[in-house]
Amino acid sequence: MLDIHSGTPADPMDAARAILRARFGFETFRGGQEAIIRAVLARKDVVGVMPTGAGKSLCYQLPALMQDGLTLVVSPLIALMKDQVDALEHRGIPAAFINSSLSPSEQTARLAAARAGKYKLLYVAPERFKSQYFVESIESAGISLFVIDEAHCISQWGHDFRPDYRRLGPIRAALGNPPTAALTATATPEVQRDIAAQLSMQSPELLVLGFHRSNLFLSVRQVSTQNDRVEAIRAEIRQAGLPGIVYCATRKAAEQAAGALVGAGYKALLYHAGLRDEERTQVQEKFMGGGADLVVATNAFGMGVDKADIRFVIHFNLPRTLEAYYQEVGRAGRDGKPSRCQLLYNHGDTHVQRFLLEGNFPPESLVREVLDAVREAGPVAREMTLAQIARLLPGRVNERAVGTSLALLEEAGHLRRMWRDEHRAGVRLLLSPAEAGRRVDARKRLARSVLEGLLAMGVQHAAEGLSLELASCAGSLGLSEDSLRDGLVALDDSGILEYRPPFRGRGVELTGETAQTPMRVDFAELDKRAKREENKLQKMVNYCCTQRCRGRFILDHFGDASTKGPCGTCDVCVSPVPRAARGLFSALAGAVVRPVVTGLKRSAGSSTAARTAKPPSVRPAPASDIMSSEDRTLMTALKALRSSLALQARVPAYIVFNDRSLLELVRLRPQTPAALEAVYGFGPTKAVRYGAAILRTIGRDSA
Ligand code: ADP
Ligand code: MG
Repeated sequence: MLDIHSGTPADPMDAARAILRARFGFETFRGGQEAIIRAVLARKDVVGVMPTGAGKSLCYQLPALMQDGLTLVVSPLIALMKDQVDALEHRGIPAAFINSSLSPSEQTARLAAARAGKYKLLYVAPERFKSQYFVESIESAGISLFVIDEAHCISQWGHDFRPDYRRLGPIRAALGNPPTAALTATATPEVQRDIAAQLSMQSPELLVLGFHRSNLFLSVRQVSTQNDRVEAIRAEIRQAGLPGIVYCATRKAAEQAAGALVGAGYKALLYHAGLRDEERTQVQEKFMGGGADLVVATNAFGMGVDKADIRFVIHFNLPRTLEAYYQEVGRAGRDGKPSRCQLLYNHGDTHVQRFLLEGNFPPESLVREVLDAVREAGPVAREMTLAQIARLLPGRVNERAVGTSLALLEEAGHLRRMWRDEHRAGVRLLLSPAEAGRRVDARKRLARSVLEGLLAMGVQHAAEGLSLELASCAGSLGLSEDSLRDGLVALDDSGILEYRPPFRGRGVELTGETAQTPMRVDFAELDKRAKREENKLQKMVNYCCTQRCRGRFILDHFGDASTKGPCGTCDVCVSPVPRAARGLFSALAGAVVRPVVTGLKRSAGSSTAARTAKPPSVRPAPASDIMSSEDRTLMTALKALRSSLALQARVPAYIVFNDRSLLELVRLRPQTPAALEAVYGFGPTKAVRYGAAILRTIGRDSA
């Protein structure tokens, strides 16, 4: 393109800026958008990493308007496709989505419209490409740009790997290798390279931009008790103001935190994946609409949480990965105003995360035992809960690990996990039809019509009773499922029939297995994945214990080199830890995470790692020489105390408390019996037996 006035090539970005204003109504590009759009317009392959909310959609939506042909967007988020398309149509941009929420005839109609050039953008879920017909049809539509949103799903090293994404490489080839933009909010340099490799990109541009969020204040606060955590939240609410989100590692932690906050007088709402869909929608809508300004949630709270004025995000527990953490804190301060992100750190939290990891990566021996148990149970396994399967196994087993084992066995084709609604209810008539008809209360119209319906279906002839699929049975009786259930319960109550509700768990059945079928689970691969997860957890711990600028730590982790030097907006930048005091901290940093994979390594023998509900203890690295002099003094005093207590009690010193407890005592300096109990190795008994002396020593020494 030539500018006729100057004779120099016109910058396509000028045209892009004009479209930005005219079609999207935005004045300027946001950090990072310009670089990605420039590369896309130059028809280069791009791996673009920008944080959530930074505006990745615009990076392909705008170029789509500047190019002939179709921009094909792959996204795993079916729930959000409609919103995206509505927003585009609202701007007068012809767009559509094709996914399983549409009827087959609607899908065909849209595919035909795409081929006829009716859309600039078409959104599809990756499963779509399983249809060869779809691939061929869409290829013939002329794809100018292939976009992969949430591209980290391609990489097994990313945090949300999806097998359907893995096939996108060959699919891209089948589509004639159109210029491709892979976009994500979370990808380490390793994952970025993997994305490019999986898609066979030729010298792609790796653009990692926009991670620096100068309005976010990042901090980590050491806490020891539950009360400390709640106090920290109250302090944060006072300082930052509402609305805010508190993220917890588990449902149980979220319930407890929400309970404590409600107890402290806050109107905190709870959100986790265990709630019913309606409840979750209600909480989210209330928060988005301003009807509630404090949500305590697990990581299930996120998709579509696009509220501009969130003033703080607190992590009540250690998050599992830095990617997840930064995605979550990224929800704060979208309006650009100062917002606070505080992570409450207790060394013991790593145990919770390790326990969760062990649940996700069961040892080989456990997977084998689960398969044996299911084989032995036979058809009974169709109606067994995880807890029941767990009870069939030797020793005490982490139920979560059983669930993962079943998923692995399913993936490898040994068995099939059933869906809740696949289970059938049982109904058996206890009286003759005539007697039943007399017994049913004439005023109970519902019970009567259910009985009549069942008799018509032949329940009187089946001595064993009938097994019913409630939904279809309700349909043929012209009742809602709830009414059918109510009627059955009423009939059961009055002794007319026996009603067995459908099994509530998932249940499993074998898929043509014999006891000789060899194990098909790929344990080597599982082992690799476990190791990667382990490393991520270690990185998260390192972030908490770092003496460096936290913002820089994150930028370096993601590979965003667009800014240099320290961030200036984290607790370390604002008040650096005195050099001398760092030693102990860093000694602990290296110590907290013991590799999960050792659990897998032991696989041929025992599987205690997945069996023990309480994770095994962690051995700290020896305290470093560069411990502060105050810490060293306290340590010496506590060691002396330990020796004398051990002498009195005639036990070895480590029985009084071991070295790891010693390090924690120095680090946390508990001042109260409750705080002491939160220190590693101090249950109530030890706290009572030795507590007073220890607290005296710490009090004297810290005074
Ligand atoms: P991402 O996919 O990176 O999480 P989105 O593409 O969904 O983010 O964009 C987040 C929000 O930012 C949207 O509401 C979008 O309209 C808005 N947005 C995008 N680009 C700009 C811009 N240049 N100026 C102002 N708002 C923008
Ligand atoms: Mg997006």
